[in-house]
Amino acid sequence: MTHPKEPSFRESVDLMFNRAVALMDLSPGLEEKIRVCNATYTVRFGVRLRGEIHTFTGYRSVHSEHKEPVKGGIRYAIGVNQDEVEALAALMTYKCALVEAPFGGSKGGLRIDPRKYDEHELERITRRFAYELAKRDMIHPSQNVPAPDMGTGEREMAWIADQYARMNTTDINAIACVTGKPLNAGGISGRVEATGRGVQYALREFFRDPRDTAQAGLSGTLDGKRVIVQGLGNVGYHAAKFLSEEDGAIITGIIEHDGALHNEDGLDVEAVRAWISKHGGVKGFPDALHAEEGAAVLEHECDILIPAALEGVINLSNAARIKAPLIIEAANGPVTAGADDILREKGTVIIPDMYANAGGVTVSYFEWVKNLSHIRFGRMQRRQEEARHQLVVDELQKISEAMGNTYTLSDRFKQKYLRGADELELVRSGLDDTMRIAYQSMRDVWHERGDVDDLRTAAYLVAIEKVAASYRAKGL
Ligand code: NAD
Repeated sequence: MTHPKEPSFRESVDLMFNRAVALMDLSPGLEEKIRVCNATYTVRFGVRLRGEIHTFTGYRSVHSEHKEPVKGGIRYAIGVNQDEVEALAALMTYKCALVEAPFGGSKGGLRIDPRKYDEHELERITRRFAYELAKRDMIHPSQNVPAPDMGTGEREMAWIADQYARMNTTDINAIACVTGKPLNAGGISGRVEATGRGVQYALREFFRDPRDTAQAGLSGTLDGKRVIVQGLGNVGYHAAKFLSEEDGAIITGIIEHDGALHNEDGLDVEAVRAWISKHGGVKGFPDALHAEEGAAVLEHECDILIPAALEGVINLSNAARIKAPLIIEAANGPVTAGADDILREKGTVIIPDMYANAGGVTVSYFEWVKNLSHIRFGRMQRRQEEARHQLVVDELQKISEAMGNTYTLSDRFKQKYLRGADELELVRSGLDDTMRIAYQSMRDVWHERGDVDDLRTAAYLVAIEKVAASYRAKGL
Protein backbone atom coordinates (compact mmCIF):
# COMPACT_ATOMS: atom_id res chain seq x y z
CA MET A 1 0.00 0.00 0.00
CA THR A 2 1.22 3.50 -0.82
CA HIS A 3 2.40 5.55 2.15
CA PRO A 4 -0.14 8.37 2.79
CA LYS A 5 2.60 11.02 2.56
CA GLU A 6 4.03 9.67 -0.70
CA PRO A 7 3.78 12.19 -3.56
CA SER A 8 2.69 11.00 -7.00
CA PHE A 9 5.37 10.21 -9.59
CA ARG A 10 4.93 13.59 -11.30
CA GLU A 11 4.99 15.42 -7.96
CA SER A 12 8.18 13.52 -7.13
CA VAL A 13 9.84 14.69 -10.35
CA ASP A 14 8.67 18.26 -9.65
CA LEU A 15 10.04 18.14 -6.10
CA MET A 16 13.43 17.03 -7.40
CA PHE A 17 13.29 19.73 -10.08
CA ASN A 18 12.44 22.33 -7.40
CA ARG A 19 15.40 21.28 -5.25
CA ALA A 20 17.71 21.97 -8.17
CA VAL A 21 16.19 25.24 -9.43
CA ALA A 22 16.38 26.63 -5.88
CA LEU A 23 20.15 26.63 -6.46
CA MET A 24 19.89 28.34 -9.85
CA ASP A 25 19.34 31.86 -10.97
CA LEU A 26 16.39 31.39 -13.34
CA SER A 27 13.60 33.89 -13.70
CA PRO A 28 10.36 32.51 -12.16
CA GLY A 29 8.71 32.64 -15.59
CA LEU A 30 11.39 30.55 -17.26
CA GLU A 31 11.45 28.13 -14.32
CA GLU A 32 7.70 27.55 -14.69
CA LYS A 33 8.00 27.21 -18.48
CA ILE A 34 10.58 24.46 -18.12
CA ARG A 35 8.73 22.61 -15.34
CA VAL A 36 5.25 22.35 -16.87
CA CYS A 37 4.16 19.68 -19.29
CA ASN A 38 3.14 21.33 -22.58
CA ALA A 39 0.38 18.94 -23.62
CA THR A 40 -1.05 15.52 -22.94
CA TYR A 41 -3.29 13.81 -25.44
CA THR A 42 -5.61 11.06 -24.22
CA VAL A 43 -7.11 8.68 -26.71
CA ARG A 44 -9.76 6.01 -26.25
CA PHE A 45 -10.19 3.65 -29.15
CA GLY A 46 -11.99 0.40 -29.84
CA VAL A 47 -10.60 -2.74 -31.43
CA ARG A 48 -12.73 -5.75 -32.30
CA LEU A 49 -11.14 -8.83 -30.72
CA ARG A 50 -12.58 -12.27 -30.05
CA GLY A 51 -15.94 -11.12 -31.44
CA GLU A 52 -16.27 -8.10 -29.14
CA ILE A 53 -15.22 -4.47 -29.19
CA HIS A 54 -12.55 -3.75 -26.55
CA THR A 55 -11.88 -0.13 -25.60
CA PHE A 56 -8.32 0.91 -24.79
CA THR A 57 -6.97 4.11 -23.23
CA GLY A 58 -3.65 5.55 -24.36
CA TYR A 59 -1.65 8.72 -23.78
CA ARG A 60 1.06 10.72 -25.49
CA SER A 61 2.47 13.54 -23.45
CA VAL A 62 4.79 16.29 -24.71
CA HIS A 63 6.71 17.91 -21.90
CA SER A 64 8.99 20.33 -23.73
CA GLU A 65 9.39 21.34 -27.36
CA HIS A 66 12.49 23.50 -26.91
CA LYS A 67 13.99 21.07 -29.41
CA GLU A 68 12.13 19.00 -31.97
CA PRO A 69 11.38 16.25 -32.55
CA VAL A 70 10.35 15.36 -29.05
CA LYS A 71 11.38 11.89 -27.99
CA GLY A 72 10.27 9.25 -25.51
CA GLY A 73 9.16 5.64 -25.24
CA ILE A 74 5.74 4.05 -25.39
CA ARG A 75 4.90 1.87 -22.41
CA TYR A 76 2.38 -0.97 -22.27
CA ALA A 77 1.28 -1.61 -18.69
CA ILE A 78 -1.96 -1.86 -16.80
CA GLY A 79 -0.96 0.93 -14.41
CA VAL A 80 -0.35 3.55 -17.12
CA ASN A 81 -2.01 6.88 -16.28
CA GLN A 82 -1.68 10.57 -17.11
CA ASP A 83 0.39 11.44 -14.02
CA GLU A 84 2.92 8.71 -14.85
CA VAL A 85 3.18 9.60 -18.54
CA GLU A 86 3.72 13.28 -17.71
CA ALA A 87 6.41 12.44 -15.14
CA LEU A 88 8.18 10.23 -17.66
CA ALA A 89 7.91 12.92 -20.38
CA ALA A 90 9.52 15.47 -18.04
CA LEU A 91 12.35 13.05 -17.28
CA MET A 92 12.88 12.65 -21.04
CA THR A 93 13.37 16.40 -21.45
CA TYR A 94 16.06 16.47 -18.76
CA LYS A 95 17.62 13.20 -19.92
CA CYS A 96 17.99 14.35 -23.53
CA ALA A 97 19.50 17.64 -22.39
CA LEU A 98 21.95 15.91 -20.07
CA VAL A 99 23.30 13.54 -22.75
CA GLU A 100 23.06 16.15 -25.50
CA ALA A 101 20.56 14.29 -27.65
CA PRO A 102 18.90 17.09 -29.65
CA PHE A 103 15.32 16.34 -28.63
CA GLY A 104 12.53 17.66 -26.46
CA GLY A 105 10.84 15.30 -24.00
CA SER A 106 7.79 13.14 -24.60
CA LYS A 107 6.33 9.84 -23.45
CA GLY A 108 3.45 7.56 -24.31
CA GLY A 109 1.57 4.78 -22.68
CA LEU A 110 -1.22 2.32 -23.31
CA ARG A 111 -3.21 0.93 -20.40
CA ILE A 112 -3.04 -2.76 -21.21
CA ASP A 113 -1.64 -6.01 -19.83
CA PRO A 114 0.21 -7.24 -22.93
CA ARG A 115 0.44 -10.76 -21.50
CA LYS A 116 -3.34 -11.12 -21.95
CA TYR A 117 -3.24 -10.80 -25.74
CA ASP A 118 -1.71 -12.93 -28.46
CA GLU A 119 0.68 -11.52 -31.04
CA HIS A 120 -1.96 -10.95 -33.70
CA GLU A 121 -4.20 -9.08 -31.25
CA LEU A 122 -1.31 -6.95 -30.01
CA GLU A 123 -0.47 -6.02 -33.59
CA ARG A 124 -4.02 -4.83 -34.24
CA ILE A 125 -4.09 -2.84 -30.99
CA THR A 126 -0.66 -1.30 -31.66
CA ARG A 127 -1.49 -0.35 -35.24
CA ARG A 128 -4.71 1.31 -34.15
CA PHE A 129 -2.94 3.21 -31.34
CA ALA A 130 -0.23 4.27 -33.82
CA TYR A 131 -2.91 5.43 -36.28
CA GLU A 132 -4.57 7.57 -33.59
CA LEU A 133 -1.26 9.19 -32.65
CA ALA A 134 0.11 9.57 -36.20
CA LYS A 135 -2.97 11.32 -37.52
CA ARG A 136 -2.36 14.06 -34.92
CA ASP A 137 1.39 14.24 -35.69
CA MET A 138 2.16 12.63 -32.33
CA ILE A 139 4.22 10.14 -34.27
CA HIS A 140 6.30 11.95 -36.87
CA PRO A 141 10.00 11.87 -37.89
CA SER A 142 10.43 15.59 -37.38
CA GLN A 143 7.97 16.16 -34.53
CA ASN A 144 7.53 13.20 -32.24
CA VAL A 145 9.57 10.00 -32.29
CA PRO A 146 8.60 7.18 -29.89
CA ALA A 147 10.79 4.25 -28.78
CA PRO A 148 10.36 1.08 -26.70
CA ASP A 149 9.71 1.13 -22.98
CA MET A 150 8.24 -1.30 -20.47
CA GLY A 151 6.10 -3.91 -22.22
CA THR A 152 7.15 -2.90 -25.74
CA GLY A 153 10.14 -3.79 -27.89
CA GLU A 154 11.38 -4.13 -31.45
CA ARG A 155 8.24 -5.90 -32.61
CA GLU A 156 5.88 -3.09 -31.57
CA MET A 157 8.24 -0.46 -33.04
CA ALA A 158 8.24 -2.28 -36.40
CA TRP A 159 4.42 -2.26 -36.43
CA ILE A 160 4.37 1.45 -35.58
CA ALA A 161 6.90 2.28 -38.33
CA ASP A 162 4.93 0.29 -40.87
CA GLN A 163 1.64 1.89 -39.83
CA TYR A 164 3.14 5.37 -40.18
CA ALA A 165 4.63 4.50 -43.59
CA ARG A 166 1.23 3.26 -44.80
CA MET A 167 -0.31 6.58 -43.79
CA ASN A 168 2.52 8.66 -45.31
CA THR A 169 3.39 6.86 -48.50
CA THR A 170 5.54 9.65 -49.98
CA ASP A 171 7.54 10.51 -46.86
CA ILE A 172 11.09 9.44 -47.67
CA ASN A 173 11.99 9.71 -43.96
CA ALA A 174 9.01 7.70 -42.72
CA ILE A 175 11.22 5.05 -41.13
CA ALA A 176 12.65 7.72 -38.76
CA CYS A 177 9.21 8.14 -37.13
CA VAL A 178 10.13 5.67 -34.38
CA THR A 179 13.33 4.14 -33.00
CA GLY A 180 14.13 0.78 -31.46
CA LYS A 181 13.11 -1.02 -34.64
CA PRO A 182 14.54 -4.42 -35.61
CA LEU A 183 17.72 -4.26 -37.69
CA ASN A 184 15.94 -5.52 -40.81
CA ALA A 185 13.27 -2.83 -40.48
CA GLY A 186 15.48 0.25 -40.20
CA GLY A 187 16.94 -0.37 -36.75
CA ILE A 188 20.52 0.01 -35.59
CA SER A 189 22.95 -2.54 -34.14
CA GLY A 190 23.17 -2.26 -30.38
CA ARG A 191 19.79 -0.59 -29.70
CA VAL A 192 18.26 -3.56 -27.85
CA GLU A 193 21.18 -3.74 -25.42
CA ALA A 194 21.68 0.05 -25.27
CA THR A 195 20.02 0.95 -21.98
CA GLY A 196 21.63 -1.93 -20.08
CA ARG A 197 24.94 -1.20 -21.80
CA GLY A 198 24.60 2.42 -20.70
CA VAL A 199 24.11 1.29 -17.10
CA GLN A 200 27.38 -0.65 -17.38
CA TYR A 201 29.24 2.34 -18.84
CA ALA A 202 27.79 4.59 -16.14
CA LEU A 203 29.05 2.29 -13.39
CA ARG A 204 32.47 1.99 -15.03
CA GLU A 205 32.75 5.78 -15.08
CA PHE A 206 31.63 5.98 -11.45
CA PHE A 207 34.34 3.49 -10.42
CA ARG A 208 37.00 5.43 -12.34
CA ASP A 209 37.13 8.18 -9.71
CA PRO A 210 38.10 7.08 -6.19
CA ARG A 211 36.40 10.20 -4.79
CA ASP A 212 33.08 8.86 -6.04
CA THR A 213 33.52 5.31 -4.81
CA ALA A 214 34.67 6.67 -1.44
CA GLN A 215 31.41 8.65 -1.15
CA ALA A 216 29.59 5.31 -1.25
CA GLY A 217 32.08 3.69 1.12
CA LEU A 218 33.28 1.44 -1.70
CA SER A 219 36.70 1.01 -3.28
CA GLY A 220 38.42 -0.73 -6.18
CA THR A 221 36.62 -1.68 -9.37
CA LEU A 222 33.41 -3.44 -10.31
CA ASP A 223 35.22 -6.77 -10.01
CA GLY A 224 33.71 -8.82 -7.19
CA LYS A 225 31.01 -6.29 -6.32
CA ARG A 226 27.72 -7.88 -5.19
CA VAL A 227 24.77 -6.68 -7.20
CA ILE A 228 20.99 -7.03 -6.76
CA VAL A 229 18.82 -6.35 -9.81
CA GLN A 230 15.09 -5.74 -9.82
CA GLY A 231 13.44 -6.62 -13.15
CA LEU A 232 15.15 -8.96 -15.60
CA GLY A 233 13.52 -7.37 -18.65
CA ASN A 234 15.34 -5.56 -21.41
CA VAL A 235 17.26 -3.13 -19.21
CA GLY A 236 17.87 -5.30 -16.14
CA TYR A 237 18.88 -8.36 -18.13
CA HIS A 238 21.45 -6.56 -20.26
CA ALA A 239 22.89 -4.63 -17.32
CA ALA A 240 23.22 -7.80 -15.22
CA LYS A 241 24.63 -9.78 -18.14
CA PHE A 242 27.34 -7.25 -19.07
CA LEU A 243 28.32 -6.47 -15.48
CA SER A 244 28.74 -10.14 -14.61
CA GLU A 245 30.30 -11.32 -17.88
CA GLU A 246 32.61 -8.39 -18.58
CA ASP A 247 33.32 -6.63 -15.29
CA GLY A 248 33.41 -9.50 -12.79
CA ALA A 249 30.41 -8.30 -10.75
CA ILE A 250 28.46 -11.02 -8.89
CA ILE A 251 24.68 -10.95 -9.30
CA THR A 252 23.51 -12.09 -5.86
CA GLY A 253 19.83 -11.22 -6.22
CA ILE A 254 17.23 -10.99 -9.00
CA ILE A 255 13.79 -9.65 -8.16
CA GLU A 256 10.94 -10.34 -10.57
CA HIS A 257 7.17 -9.92 -10.56
CA ASP A 258 6.64 -13.31 -8.90
CA GLY A 259 9.29 -13.12 -6.18
CA ALA A 260 13.04 -12.98 -5.90
CA LEU A 261 16.06 -15.27 -6.27
CA HIS A 262 19.03 -15.02 -3.98
CA ASN A 263 22.42 -16.71 -4.06
CA GLU A 264 25.51 -15.16 -2.42
CA ASP A 265 27.76 -17.16 -4.79
CA GLY A 266 26.17 -15.51 -7.80
CA LEU A 267 23.27 -16.24 -10.12
CA ASP A 268 23.70 -17.31 -13.73
CA VAL A 269 21.89 -14.46 -15.53
CA GLU A 270 21.43 -16.37 -18.80
CA ALA A 271 20.00 -19.37 -16.99
CA VAL A 272 17.55 -17.21 -15.02
CA ARG A 273 16.49 -15.40 -18.19
CA ALA A 274 15.92 -18.72 -19.97
CA TRP A 275 13.90 -19.96 -16.97
CA ILE A 276 11.69 -16.85 -17.06
CA SER A 277 11.10 -17.24 -20.81
CA LYS A 278 10.03 -20.84 -20.30
CA HIS A 279 8.06 -20.58 -17.04
CA GLY A 280 6.86 -16.97 -17.02
CA GLY A 281 8.65 -16.11 -13.78
CA VAL A 282 11.53 -16.96 -11.47
CA LYS A 283 9.63 -19.35 -9.22
CA GLY A 284 11.08 -22.85 -9.16
CA PHE A 285 14.51 -21.82 -10.46
CA PRO A 286 17.08 -24.25 -9.03
CA ASP A 287 20.40 -23.17 -7.44
CA ALA A 288 18.91 -20.22 -5.56
CA LEU A 289 16.70 -19.35 -2.61
CA HIS A 290 13.27 -18.10 -3.65
CA ALA A 291 11.48 -15.36 -1.70
CA GLU A 292 7.74 -14.88 -2.32
CA GLU A 293 7.94 -11.27 -1.22
CA GLY A 294 10.34 -10.05 -3.91
CA ALA A 295 10.49 -6.40 -2.82
CA ALA A 296 12.00 -7.45 0.54
CA VAL A 297 15.18 -8.44 -1.31
CA LEU A 298 15.70 -4.76 -2.18
CA GLU A 299 16.65 -4.45 1.48
CA HIS A 300 19.33 -7.17 1.41
CA GLU A 301 23.03 -6.42 1.85
CA CYS A 302 24.85 -5.78 -1.43
CA ASP A 303 27.27 -3.27 -2.93
CA ILE A 304 25.12 -2.08 -5.82
CA LEU A 305 21.33 -2.10 -6.12
CA ILE A 306 19.89 -1.80 -9.64
CA PRO A 307 16.14 -1.18 -9.71
CA ALA A 308 15.31 -1.86 -13.37
CA ALA A 309 11.57 -2.49 -13.34
CA LEU A 310 9.07 0.04 -12.03
CA GLU A 311 8.82 3.47 -10.49
CA GLY A 312 8.29 4.11 -6.80
CA VAL A 313 9.73 0.82 -5.54
CA ILE A 314 12.02 2.55 -3.05
CA ASN A 315 9.70 4.78 -1.10
CA LEU A 316 8.85 6.15 2.32
CA SER A 317 7.91 2.64 3.54
CA ASN A 318 11.23 0.91 2.87
CA ALA A 319 13.92 3.58 2.22
CA ALA A 320 15.28 3.52 5.76
CA ARG A 321 15.92 -0.24 5.48
CA ILE A 322 17.83 -0.13 2.16
CA LYS A 323 21.39 -1.29 2.88
CA ALA A 324 23.03 -0.87 -0.54
CA PRO A 325 25.53 2.01 -0.40
CA LEU A 326 25.15 2.60 -4.15
CA ILE A 327 21.90 2.61 -6.14
CA ILE A 328 21.85 3.04 -9.89
CA GLU A 329 18.38 3.89 -11.18
CA ALA A 330 18.11 1.83 -14.35
CA ALA A 331 14.32 2.21 -14.25
CA ASN A 332 12.66 5.60 -14.42
CA GLY A 333 11.66 7.00 -11.04
CA PRO A 334 12.35 3.94 -8.84
CA VAL A 335 13.18 6.17 -5.85
CA THR A 336 10.44 8.58 -4.72
CA ALA A 337 11.30 12.13 -3.63
CA GLY A 338 10.66 11.22 0.03
CA ALA A 339 12.87 8.14 -0.18
CA ASP A 340 15.53 10.23 -1.89
CA ASP A 341 15.63 12.54 1.18
CA ILE A 342 16.00 9.57 3.54
CA LEU A 343 18.73 7.93 1.47
CA ARG A 344 20.67 11.16 1.02
CA GLU A 345 20.58 11.63 4.77
CA LYS A 346 22.00 8.09 5.20
CA GLY A 347 24.81 8.80 2.73
CA THR A 348 23.58 6.39 0.05
CA VAL A 349 24.89 7.41 -3.35
CA ILE A 350 22.27 7.38 -6.11
CA ILE A 351 23.18 7.51 -9.79
CA PRO A 352 19.95 9.09 -11.05
CA ASP A 353 17.60 7.71 -13.69
CA MET A 354 17.86 10.69 -16.02
CA TYR A 355 21.51 9.78 -16.51
CA ALA A 356 21.64 6.06 -15.68
CA ASN A 357 19.15 4.86 -18.29
CA ALA A 358 20.02 7.43 -20.97
CA GLY A 359 21.77 4.77 -23.06
CA GLY A 360 18.45 3.97 -24.72
CA VAL A 361 17.72 7.44 -25.99
CA THR A 362 21.37 7.93 -26.95
CA VAL A 363 21.36 4.96 -29.30
CA SER A 364 17.86 5.93 -30.45
CA TYR A 365 19.40 9.23 -31.47
CA PHE A 366 22.02 7.34 -33.51
CA GLU A 367 19.24 5.26 -35.10
CA TRP A 368 17.26 8.37 -36.04
CA VAL A 369 20.37 9.93 -37.61
CA LYS A 370 21.04 6.68 -39.50
CA ASN A 371 17.45 6.65 -40.79
CA LEU A 372 17.64 10.26 -41.96
CA SER A 373 20.99 9.72 -43.67
CA HIS A 374 19.77 6.45 -45.21
CA ILE A 375 23.12 4.74 -44.71
CA ARG A 376 24.56 2.39 -42.13
CA PHE A 377 27.28 3.82 -39.89
CA GLY A 378 30.77 2.81 -41.03
CA ARG A 379 29.74 1.81 -44.55
CA MET A 380 31.88 4.46 -46.26
CA GLN A 381 34.92 4.39 -43.97
CA ARG A 382 35.43 0.85 -42.79
CA ARG A 383 37.54 -0.64 -45.61
CA GLN A 384 39.42 2.61 -46.13
CA GLU A 385 40.33 2.59 -42.45
CA GLU A 386 41.50 -1.02 -42.78
CA ALA A 387 43.64 -0.13 -45.84
CA ARG A 388 45.35 2.73 -43.97
CA HIS A 389 46.05 0.52 -40.97
CA GLN A 390 47.49 -2.11 -43.33
CA LEU A 391 49.90 0.55 -44.68
CA VAL A 392 51.19 1.27 -41.17
CA VAL A 393 51.59 -2.41 -40.33
CA ASP A 394 53.46 -3.11 -43.62
CA GLU A 395 55.74 -0.11 -43.10
CA LEU A 396 56.55 -1.08 -39.50
CA GLN A 397 57.38 -4.56 -40.66
CA LYS A 398 59.72 -3.17 -43.36
CA ILE A 399 61.48 -0.82 -40.90
CA SER A 400 61.94 -3.67 -38.47
CA GLU A 401 63.48 -5.86 -41.18
CA ALA A 402 65.71 -3.04 -42.46
CA MET A 403 67.07 -2.60 -38.94
CA GLY A 404 67.92 -6.26 -38.85
CA ASN A 405 65.28 -7.05 -36.19
CA THR A 406 63.51 -10.35 -36.17
CA TYR A 407 60.58 -8.83 -34.27
CA THR A 408 57.20 -9.26 -35.94
CA LEU A 409 53.89 -7.79 -34.87
CA SER A 410 51.75 -10.40 -33.13
CA ASP A 411 48.80 -11.88 -35.02
CA ARG A 412 46.51 -10.85 -32.15
CA PHE A 413 47.61 -7.22 -32.44
CA LYS A 414 47.26 -7.25 -36.21
CA GLN A 415 43.82 -8.80 -36.06
CA LYS A 416 42.59 -6.16 -33.59
CA TYR A 417 44.34 -3.21 -35.20
CA LEU A 418 43.58 -3.98 -38.81
CA ARG A 419 39.86 -4.49 -38.45
CA GLY A 420 37.81 -1.38 -39.29
CA ALA A 421 34.98 -0.56 -36.92
CA ASP A 422 31.54 -1.91 -37.82
CA GLU A 423 28.25 -0.32 -36.86
CA LEU A 424 28.01 -2.07 -33.49
CA GLU A 425 31.48 -0.93 -32.46
CA LEU A 426 30.75 2.63 -33.55
CA VAL A 427 27.47 2.65 -31.64
CA ARG A 428 29.15 1.33 -28.49
CA SER A 429 31.92 3.87 -28.84
CA GLY A 430 29.43 6.73 -29.26
CA LEU A 431 27.43 5.47 -26.28
CA ASP A 432 30.50 5.09 -24.08
CA ASP A 433 31.65 8.60 -24.96
CA THR A 434 28.19 10.03 -24.25
CA MET A 435 27.90 8.28 -20.88
CA ARG A 436 31.38 9.37 -19.81
CA ILE A 437 30.94 13.01 -20.81
CA ALA A 438 27.50 13.30 -19.22
CA TYR A 439 28.77 11.70 -16.00
CA GLN A 440 31.76 14.03 -15.92
CA SER A 441 29.48 17.05 -16.25
CA MET A 442 27.49 15.84 -13.19
CA ARG A 443 30.66 14.94 -11.29
CA ASP A 444 32.10 18.43 -11.77
CA VAL A 445 28.98 20.03 -10.31
CA TRP A 446 28.81 17.45 -7.49
CA HIS A 447 32.39 17.95 -6.34
CA GLU A 448 32.98 21.56 -7.21
CA ARG A 449 29.85 23.29 -5.98
CA GLY A 450 29.64 23.46 -2.22
CA ASP A 451 25.83 23.52 -2.25
CA VAL A 452 25.27 20.28 -4.21
CA ASP A 453 25.57 17.08 -2.22
CA ASP A 454 24.13 14.49 -4.58
CA LEU A 455 24.35 13.36 -8.19
CA ARG A 456 20.63 13.80 -8.83
CA THR A 457 20.69 17.51 -8.05
CA ALA A 458 23.86 17.79 -10.12
CA ALA A 459 22.13 16.07 -13.05
CA TYR A 460 19.12 18.37 -12.82
CA LEU A 461 21.37 21.44 -12.65
CA VAL A 462 23.27 20.45 -15.80
CA ALA A 463 20.10 19.50 -17.69
CA ILE A 464 17.97 22.49 -16.68
CA GLU A 465 20.80 24.87 -17.54
CA LYS A 466 20.92 23.39 -21.06
CA VAL A 467 17.16 23.61 -21.54
CA ALA A 468 17.19 27.18 -20.21
CA ALA A 469 19.99 28.07 -22.64
CA SER A 470 17.86 26.76 -25.54
CA TYR A 471 14.89 28.87 -24.46
CA ARG A 472 17.10 31.94 -23.98
CA ALA A 473 18.58 31.45 -27.45
CA LYS A 474 15.03 31.58 -28.80
CA GLY A 475 14.57 34.90 -27.05
CA LEU A 476 12.26 33.62 -24.32
P1 NAD B 1 10.64 -4.69 -19.72
O1 NAD B 1 9.17 -4.78 -19.86
O2 NAD B 1 11.52 -5.28 -20.75
O3 NAD B 1 11.09 -5.33 -18.31
C1 NAD B 1 10.51 -5.04 -17.09
C2 NAD B 1 10.78 -6.24 -16.19
O4 NAD B 1 10.33 -5.95 -14.86
C3 NAD B 1 10.04 -7.50 -16.64
O5 NAD B 1 10.93 -8.59 -16.62
C4 NAD B 1 8.93 -7.64 -15.59
O6 NAD B 1 8.54 -9.00 -15.38
C5 NAD B 1 9.61 -7.06 -14.37
N1 NAD B 1 8.66 -6.63 -13.35
C6 NAD B 1 7.38 -6.19 -13.51
N2 NAD B 1 6.83 -5.93 -12.32
C7 NAD B 1 7.76 -6.20 -11.39
C8 NAD B 1 7.79 -6.14 -9.97
N3 NAD B 1 6.73 -5.73 -9.28
N4 NAD B 1 8.92 -6.49 -9.34
C9 NAD B 1 10.00 -6.90 -10.04
N5 NAD B 1 10.03 -6.99 -11.38
C10 NAD B 1 8.93 -6.65 -12.04
O7 NAD B 1 10.94 -3.14 -19.49
P2 NAD B 1 12.30 -2.37 -19.73
O8 NAD B 1 12.27 -1.83 -21.10
O9 NAD B 1 13.45 -3.20 -19.27
O10 NAD B 1 12.08 -1.10 -18.76
C11 NAD B 1 12.35 -1.18 -17.37
C12 NAD B 1 12.52 0.22 -16.83
O11 NAD B 1 13.56 0.89 -17.55
C13 NAD B 1 11.30 1.14 -16.95
O12 NAD B 1 11.26 2.02 -15.85
C14 NAD B 1 11.59 1.92 -18.21
O13 NAD B 1 10.92 3.18 -18.23
C15 NAD B 1 13.09 2.10 -18.08
N6 NAD B 1 13.76 2.39 -19.36
C16 NAD B 1 13.73 1.53 -20.41
C17 NAD B 1 14.41 1.83 -21.59
C18 NAD B 1 14.48 0.89 -22.75
O14 NAD B 1 15.26 1.16 -23.68
N7 NAD B 1 13.75 -0.21 -22.78
C19 NAD B 1 15.10 3.04 -21.69
C20 NAD B 1 15.13 3.91 -20.59
C21 NAD B 1 14.46 3.56 -19.44
